[in-house]
Amino acid sequence: MRLDPVNILKEHDLKHTRQRVRVLEEIALDTVAISQPELEKKLGKEIDRVTLYRILNTYEDKGILHRIMDMNGTANYAICSSSCSEDHHHDEHVHFNCTTCTKIYCLEVVVPKIKMPKGFTAKTVNTTAYGTCEKCNALLENPA
Ligand SMILES: [Zn+2]
Ligand SMILES: [Zn+2]
Repeated sequence: MRLDPVNILKEHDLKHTRQRVRVLEEIALDTVAISQPELEKKLGKEIDRVTLYRILNTYEDKGILHRIMDMNGTANYAICSSSCSEDHHHDEHVHFNCTTCTKIYCLEVVVPKIKMPKGFTAKTVNTTAYGTCEKCNALLENPA
């Protein structure tokens, strides 16, 4: 999935700055979510932590990124599906957290509708599956 950061910024009425483009470039590189510490490591020389944090928050607010907490409570970010917009995320897909390589995948699996008890209104439902991803499974089957 190759996305054009400049276009994404334009579509969401965000001024494009070098730093904003860099953050999107890093995240759009892969179909796997990227953790905040990993982003800090990759962009640390160009963008200070506070600025990075601010950019990530803006992107989340605008429906450009969604945040997934991994099993250690670390924030991971992935690009949203194109139907997401401000205050309205539609990333109701299942996430997969590999317990071997710790990567988080956005799966093209829709989260089943969950019926809430009377009086409860769910705004987002997060479903994360834990286990072994296809890459790690392949390595287990054919060790080098
Ligand atoms: Zn894995
Ligand atoms: Zn996702």
